[in-house]
Formats: sequence, C-alpha cells, structure tokens
Amino acid sequence: ATPAATMVGSTLGAQNGVLFKGGDILERARDIDTVVFDKTGTLTTGEMTLTDVVALEGESAATDGGETAADGGAVVTRDSLDEDAVLRLAASAERNSEHPLAQAIVEGAEERGLELADPEDFENVPGQGVRTTVEGREVLVGNRRLLEGDGVDPAPAAAEMERLEREGKTAMLVAVDGTVAGVVADADTVKDSSADAVAALRERGLDVMLITGDNERTARAVAERVGIDPDNVRAGVLPEDKAGALEDIQSTGRKAMMVGDGVNDAPALAVAHVGCAIGSGTDVAIEAADVTLMRDDPLDVVKAIRISEATLAKIK
Ligand code: ADP
Ligand code: MG
Repeated sequence: ATPAATMVGSTLGAQNGVLFKGGDILERARDIDTVVFDKTGTLTTGEMTLTDVVALEGESAATDGGETAADGGAVVTRDSLDEDAVLRLAASAERNSEHPLAQAIVEGAEERGLELADPEDFENVPGQGVRTTVEGREVLVGNRRLLEGDGVDPAPAAAEMERLEREGKTAMLVAVDGTVAGVVADADTVKDSSADAVAALRERGLDVMLITGDNERTARAVAERVGIDPDNVRAGVLPEDKAGALEDIQSTGRKAMMVGDGVNDAPALAVAHVGCAIGSGTDVAIEAADVTLMRDDPLDVVKAIRISEATLAKIK
C-alpha cells in the first residue's frame, strides 16, 4: 500500500477505536480467510459468577447386608461434605489465585457468609486449576486433567460435570484428601454482539473458529449460542498450546486473524497472520497484537476488516 493509503486506513481505524500497529497490517488484515476467537473475555464478558455448588454423596458400603462393624461386618464409609463445606474449602483454596474463575468462587462463598481459611502451599497449575492445603486437608480445584494428574478419579462427579457443562457453565471439580467431594460451577455471559459479529464475518465468507482452554461441552454450548460451527471448536487447549493450535489451523494455508484478550492468548496473537487484542485486554496481549480494539465489542473485528478492505481497495 502507498503511504497515503496507510495513513487513511490508520486514521479511519483510530477514529473507530481500531488501532493498526503499522501499514502492512492493513494489507494483512485484508488477506485473512479465517477468524479465530478466544472464548473467555472475548466472545463472553469474562465476568464470572458462581452459579452452582454440588456436594457428592460419600460412598457407604457395607460388606454384608448393612450390618455394623459392631456385629462383625466392616462398614466402609467415605465422609461426605455438605455444599457449604465443599464451597468453603474450594474458595479457601482459590484465595491466592487471580484467575477469574477463582475470584468468582471466592466472591460466591463470601456472599453466602462463609468464613474462609488461609491456604498453605498454594500452587497454581496453569490451564488446570489449583492445588493447596486447607486446614490440613489436601484440596484440588480444577478440571479433570488436574485431578487425573494427581491420581484422583473424577468419575464420581461425571454426571454432574456433564449436566453443568451442557448448560454452558465452567464446572470445576473439588477434591479433598484424594477423593472428589463436589463440583462448583461458574458462568460467564456471552456478549450481546458476539452472535452479530460471527454472522457478519460469515456473511463476508470468512470461516469463524473458537479456541479455548475450557472443555469441549462448555465450548460447544457457547459456540452454538454465537453461531460457530461445532466442527470449528478447539477446546481444552492448554495456554502453552494455543500458539501451536493456531499454527495448526494455518498449516493448511489458511490466513487467520486471532482475536483474544488474555495473557494466555499472547503467543497465539503473535503466531496468527493478524493478531487482534480486544478491549480490556492485558498489556501482554496488546503488545503481542497487530491490531488493538479499544472497546471490547466483537463487532469491531468486522470493522477492522472492513477498514482494511475499504482503504486498500480505494487506493489501488
Ligand atoms: P481460558 O482459556 O478459558 O481462559 P484457562 O486456560 O485459564 O481458560 O483454564 C482452562 C481450564 O482450567 C478452566 O476452564 C478450568 O477448568 C481450569 N482452571 C484454570 N485455572 C483454574 C482455577 N484457578 N481454578 C479452577 N479451575 C481452573
Ligand atoms: Mg480469554
């Protein structure tokens, strides 16, 4: 593009809250054929609220006909915690985490008037959850991968997890001393204009995809709400694998615009043909991006593409 075209495009962009980092970005934005959205904070508001707390029943198995230990039969019981106890341990464990999922759990517990304890040995496992000790009990809060990595079987919570995920919620397992004790779920709100943005992009002939660290079922529920094809959902992608997933998508010759808001997204923004940081995005994301959207409105993605097409078409 000529310097004049670049000037016009950049100025038009700035007037519309779309900041292009350089003239060549305008050209690259015109060439894209695929838009890949991050889910949390990009298509959704990222403002999580605690919606569900489930306490699983402890197993109670008598070896012979329910007789008590006193008359010879051994009774094996696993203590079950009630909902408040599950939430209190989960929230105490999450106290030191800055993850929006964690903050919603802590706020939810406080709103219910629960007194939280101070966790010891706090460990954050990126893309999975947290591992801590609360009042001498070993507490894990996170996804299936986190529990399995610690040798805890998430199976007893499978039905509850699936039910909540199908509702589009992010369900998290709570394990206490090596067994799954319950499930907590956070929900996030899909932004008002997400579906309109996806429709407008598809109308322009672009493929629209969704990439997230969240699980398949939750990701698909959100995809369905905004009009993204289920085949175009890449779920359960660990933060360090997001860039690789983008490379994968582009390996077939696609030219993708990646739209994301978080620290997690920075490597993928850098790898994409065009990286686009949205709204209240973190500094790291903005730094890695080629385009910054001042507002957190997904419709501005369409605007960015329109501006690049319009300016360059006019000058040529
Ligand atoms: P996203 O890509 O949606 O921003 P992350 O990559 O940060 O999500 O996390 C992926 C998944 O790991 C979450 O959906 C959640 O199941 C789990 N997880 C991550 N951090 C935490 C946490 N602090 N507490 C509980 N679960 C967590
Ligand atoms: Mg995000």
